[in-house]
Amino acid sequence: MTGFDAEAILRALRSALPADKGRIGLHEPCFAGNEWTYVKDCLDTGWVSSVGSYVDRFERELAEFTGAKRAVAVVNGTAALHVSLLLAGVRPGDEVIIPSLTFVATANAVAYCGAVPHFADSDEATLGLDPDKLAEHLSAIAEIRGGDCVNRRTGRPIRAVVPMHTFGHPVDLDPLVELCNRWNLVLVEDAAESLGSLYKGRHTGTFSRLAALSFNGNKVLTTGGGGAILTNDDGLGKMAKHLTTTAKVPHRWEFFHDATGYNYRLPNINAALGCAQLEQLPRFLKQKRDLAARYREAFREVQGVRFICEPSFAASNYWLNALLLDPPFVSARDDILEMTDKNGIMTRPAWTPMHRLPMYRNCPHMDLSGAEDLGLRLINIPSSAALGGGHD
Ligand SMILES: *Cc1c(COP(=O)(O)O)cnc(C)c1O
Repeated sequence: MTGFDAEAILRALRSALPADKGRIGLHEPCFAGNEWTYVKDCLDTGWVSSVGSYVDRFERELAEFTGAKRAVAVVNGTAALHVSLLLAGVRPGDEVIIPSLTFVATANAVAYCGAVPHFADSDEATLGLDPDKLAEHLSAIAEIRGGDCVNRRTGRPIRAVVPMHTFGHPVDLDPLVELCNRWNLVLVEDAAESLGSLYKGRHTGTFSRLAALSFNGNKVLTTGGGGAILTNDDGLGKMAKHLTTTAKVPHRWEFFHDATGYNYRLPNINAALGCAQLEQLPRFLKQKRDLAARYREAFREVQGVRFICEPSFAASNYWLNALLLDPPFVSARDDILEMTDKNGIMTRPAWTPMHRLPMYRNCPHMDLSGAEDLGLRLINIPSSAALGGGHD
């Protein structure tokens, strides 16, 4: 166990972070623009709730920013995933392939559809779905039956694949698109963490039939709570809007609903916050890249640990910066978490992989040694936009 010095990690963190900041959190929102003005406008006009111009504006500007044809704003990222999966055709009894190493919302959204998560392994290069391993797994367990991809072991149709862009780093999408075409699976991106991240020059969330964004308080941009569905299909965009607004058929006074819809619409007051945040997004992204560059430099010479950089094919938003411990030093993780916390720098481990949670323990899965391993070796470090750029 030579070459590992936990104190060196603390020194590297301190050298990359601004001095005299007091306690440094993992990811704090920044309200330095028109937030007060737009929210006050909602209060002054009384348009705080389910109708108002900020929702339309936020949706239009999100579509412009991402290059998606349509963005539909909803109450949170989990709701965006839920409705995306429904519109992808996920039905009760289907299976949906998702990475085991993800936030619990990805798995929960599958369960809300009455479907079963089928866990796939993650790749150290991207921290996301490993396309080669998934290809091998599908060849071993799946067959096409009457147009459906069927899991021969369970007899259930596998309907969709939901890659997730971990900590904002894009997963390798091209081979996944190809795999989905070959196996007749619908691709749905969980882009909750990757607003502002590009894959081969194009915004994440625009490679799949539908994608979900999140604007929770700890994300790149926040609306308090919120999310959006992205799609390039006008028909699906219309259906997403309809389903997330109680499936009410427009009429001046009649209450007629033509499906079991959801009250998932983003309130106008949250959308107002979103419009103000979107104006600052280019600056947030610049600051976050700046912070990541400082970390990269600071950790260059630190033994036993590697700072996670964007994959070569991507421009990442660096939503949540992360360190990866070299395999021999896994056991030092908790000491590092403890020591950084004691010194006023908040750090966190990655999520417990989904197949380790009680409600998903018995779900189908492939070999998950990559996810298990990454789950133990990753440490998230402070990533707020305000920590990068112009502080010295
Ligand atoms: C944040 C997040 C979501 C959705 O989160 P909400 O809190 O519901 O907005 C979904 N998936 C991943 C991977 C996330 O990080």
